Amino acid sequence: MTLPTIKQVRAYTLRGGGADYHDQGDGHWIDDHIATPMAKYPEYRQSRRSFGINVLGTLVVEVEASDGTVGFAVTTGGELGAFIVERHLARFLEGAKVTDLEKIWDQMYLSTLYYGRKGIVLNTISGVDLALWDLLGKLRQEPVHQLLGGAVRDELQFYATGARPDLAKEMGFIGGKLPLQHGPAEGEEGLRKNLEALATMRERVGDDFWLMLDCWMSLDLNYATRLAQGAHEFGLKWIEEALPPDDYWGYAELRRNVPRGMLVTTGEHEATRWGFRLLLEMGCCDILQPDVGWCGGLTELIRISALADAHNALVVPHGSSVYSYHFVITRTNSPFAEFLMMAPKADEVVPMFHPQLLDEPVPVRGRMRASALDRPGFGVRLNPECALERPYSH
Ligand SMILES: [Mg+2]
Repeated sequence: MTLPTIKQVRAYTLRGGGADYHDQGDGHWIDDHIATPMAKYPEYRQSRRSFGINVLGTLVVEVEASDGTVGFAVTTGGELGAFIVERHLARFLEGAKVTDLEKIWDQMYLSTLYYGRKGIVLNTISGVDLALWDLLGKLRQEPVHQLLGGAVRDELQFYATGARPDLAKEMGFIGGKLPLQHGPAEGEEGLRKNLEALATMRERVGDDFWLMLDCWMSLDLNYATRLAQGAHEFGLKWIEEALPPDDYWGYAELRRNVPRGMLVTTGEHEATRWGFRLLLEMGCCDILQPDVGWCGGLTELIRISALADAHNALVVPHGSSVYSYHFVITRTNSPFAEFLMMAPKADEVVPMFHPQLLDEPVPVRGRMRASALDRPGFGVRLNPECALERPYSH
């Protein structure tokens, strides 16, 4: 079987919503006094946009094959990511076979080691890798989940992340993850408010519905331990990303400190098999939560997942819509998926990457049939009404 080669790689930027889910307007729950590492500075406490969470914007990577077929992906990375794609990574793709995913990944990673390893460089590598999977799926007229070995279950089930787990329960989700709102700088009063918010939600959702807390790197070990202990009586299922991602030692100790049965989860801001190896070998968490668009892409996520499986850890990727779904449905150690409630009041299910993607499937009654993913590649289209900019070329 002869497949085409890669003819051209192009990188665009895009503002607002979509892959940069932080870039939302005033009044959105996702930017309403959420605990962050910057919250110790009162002037940056109310809004994450105030300290620049939305500065990067979206990176769109397009990979065109010699027969004119185009694969694409979106991630966070904006103009800096576009520069890396056009001026550095393009050389490893153009002229290569469309099936050379392993070799291209290796060359992208090794050639950027001297300034990469994590963060925006890995976001960018992820974007290129996902675009390559999309292209390969389109050329073979197969969904990505089929390229990955096929679905291991008939449907996905979802928990919802957002300010209203009570509404998520009514919508059929299996659990709700609240953003933590107050960090250590807000003292005992803040801790009390955090626990009260959880208690209120537990009262509304009853005993059996999962409730989790997403702490977005905002706590220290002592505070996280006290929060976990206080949250135990309200049946907290897991405490997520409690500490800054570099504090592997803190995570290992937190996992020893939390009440028996409560899970510690993290990894949203971790990258590559080496970063996740540290989390696993140091016993930092029960569930790994790599973001497919940040951890190194699907090619790297497969390796992370195999490593996790051998450590009896689950892999439940951070948000990221179709890029996660095609993976989750193919892995036995990824039993459910996250859905980020992007409606400003978290009161309805809307596509996560709106307005950037078209044909994006969303859960219905908290579930999604595998057949909803049965389109070539990742099965989504770039919305032609979104204004793309190509800041660099080569
Ligand atoms: Mg999170």
